[in-house]
Amino acid sequence: MAVARLKGCAHCPGKLHRADYQRKPRGVESWPDQPKRFSLCCDQEGCRRRHTPPSVRFLGRRVYGGVVAVLIPAMAQGLKPERVAQIREALDLQIDRRTLERWRQWWLGRFVQSAFWKEARGRFMPPLCPQALPLSLCLSFAMEERRDRLLELLEFIAPITTPEAWRELVM
Ligand SMILES: [Zn+2]
Repeated sequence: MAVARLKGCAHCPGKLHRADYQRKPRGVESWPDQPKRFSLCCDQEGCRRRHTPPSVRFLGRRVYGGVVAVLIPAMAQGLKPERVAQIREALDLQIDRRTLERWRQWWLGRFVQSAFWKEARGRFMPPLCPQALPLSLCLSFAMEERRDRLLELLEFIAPITTPEAWRELVM
């Protein structure tokens, strides 16, 4: 991130300043709360273009939403922080306690009540503890042992990031 800032604006001789913003992930109708996304903004009048770090662009908004929804509450529940520190650093997530609590409520409430979960939970043996979501989900995917399992987990929850499913989950 610091490197991107030093390079300056890609479109003019302007300098880049930090300008975090909040944005809904693609395909998501409503989001319990949106974390601030790291961003840089050109300081030149008439340009003012945003420069988003490549790590965020690479992930894509949909995956980003999944990462936020799963990892942040799971970390707060005790997922080994060193396993996800790299991802968290790449996204430069800024999450306060209130946001965290809302996410937890979302998992414990709307998520466990959803048609998606009612259908999907049967696939887990032994059954997952709903009170420990999303940490129990992370552990079930053996995410602490293998980081590539995160992608499998994100694929699993991908149905809930479609607009239709999300409407049921959040509205
Ligand atoms: Zn510029």
